[in-house]
Amino acid sequence: MQPTPNESSSSFYDLSLQEKLLKAVEQVGYEKPTAVQYQAIPSILEDKDLLVSAETGSGKTAAFLLPTLHNLLIRPSEKFGIRALILAPTRELAQQTFSQCQLLSQFTDLTSGLITGGEDFKKQQSLLRKNPAIIVATPGRLLELIAQDSINIRHLEVLILDEADRMLDMGFSDDVLAIVEQCNKQRQTLLFSATLTHYGVIKMADKVLKNHKTIALNTLHDGHDNIEQQMVLADDYEHKQKLLAWLLLNETYDKALVFTNTKIKADELRGPLRGHKLRVGVLHGDMDQKDRNRMMELFREGTINIVVATDLAARGLDVKGINLVINYDVPRNGIDYIHRIGRTGRAEESGRTIALVNSTEWNIISGIARFLKQKFNRRIIEGLQGKYNGPKKIKASGKSSVSKKKEEPKKAAAKKVKVRERDKKNIGKRRIPKQKEQAAETE
Ligand code: AMP
Repeated sequence: MQPTPNESSSSFYDLSLQEKLLKAVEQVGYEKPTAVQYQAIPSILEDKDLLVSAETGSGKTAAFLLPTLHNLLIRPSEKFGIRALILAPTRELAQQTFSQCQLLSQFTDLTSGLITGGEDFKKQQSLLRKNPAIIVATPGRLLELIAQDSINIRHLEVLILDEADRMLDMGFSDDVLAIVEQCNKQRQTLLFSATLTHYGVIKMADKVLKNHKTIALNTLHDGHDNIEQQMVLADDYEHKQKLLAWLLLNETYDKALVFTNTKIKADELRGPLRGHKLRVGVLHGDMDQKDRNRMMELFREGTINIVVATDLAARGLDVKGINLVINYDVPRNGIDYIHRIGRTGRAEESGRTIALVNSTEWNIISGIARFLKQKFNRRIIEGLQGKYNGPKKIKASGKSSVSKKKEEPKKAAAKKVKVRERDKKNIGKRRIPKQKEQAAETE
């Protein structure tokens, strides 16, 4: 067993990183390594393959960038082609990783490039002709460039799969494996995921890693001590809108993120919130890349201080000063919840998260609380208290003890008939698998 690391007294100087990288670390203002950096950097420096579970906002990007940059610096290469490839699930995350890469490599002569969908194909081809050492990419566009023979990853030294669980959830498994096929077999591979219990991640790790070491820093159930978690009960969406406006007008925060489960709802909230003179923007996957980038810029610089987003933003987004996250809709599961709240309380800052919960969402939120082994503080907003006060009877699990069937037998029976009629009508018609339907709707 490894000795317990003494993280509190460690410094970046103990990690034997190149001077030029330590200078960059000082410049960006990191005082000491975070837990994931302290644990992952030495193994990456030893060229080991790694499987790491790291909490969103834990400093995982620098945890793989710093030792990778170090390794590239100490073994100069004469070969042509990309030396390190970082794959990310979303354009926003790729953009942020690229920015961090540029900051951390600023005193070196290592060059890097960004390859994502939604950007000019020709520009990316000419970028690749300059032979950057490091590429940060989303899988789809990278595969297109591979198909056109515009990128050479045959001498790749390091492959990093960031937020692998999300990449798989978004349906990129085949793309990632097709990219891996093209890579040098002797490469080092680092797989970062929010969770290690994800079946797809376990399978992917089997396929792409060799003799790897596992660093399980957080299980998703660890407390988010620096994030205060509250919930407010709501009657319906009209009531939720009132609560949301009140919170955004009265809470103390620098920047706030509001999450909805669908793009339509995100769009719908913009008007009413602007009506309250709030500086609001919207971010979701139906917007073209230019608008998405512009929105992120406005949010970063503070021109707007509230963004209403779908889960797309829950992963990629790293904006300083987000200290309020409101779940206008309760997310569909605990993992999405963690990614959403992970947008605040980043790198030890503190934050607050508030879930607006109606009667149909009670069981989901109590499932999430159980999954996280955490309790939500129930909050009542004076003057805006609704009729819904939680279920009358609660099971030990925290869920309502009255099943929907018992609560509304007539409604349930009517729904069954409707479903049967619809199914009859749709016989022979192709159905979109539920997961894809949901992803299409959310992103
Ligand atoms: P990540 O988990 O990589 O998305 O990082 C979350 C945030 O933490 C980013 O804004 C990083 O710039 C910041 N960060 C990374 N490492 C450190 C560190 N050692 N000390 C302070 N902040 C850090």
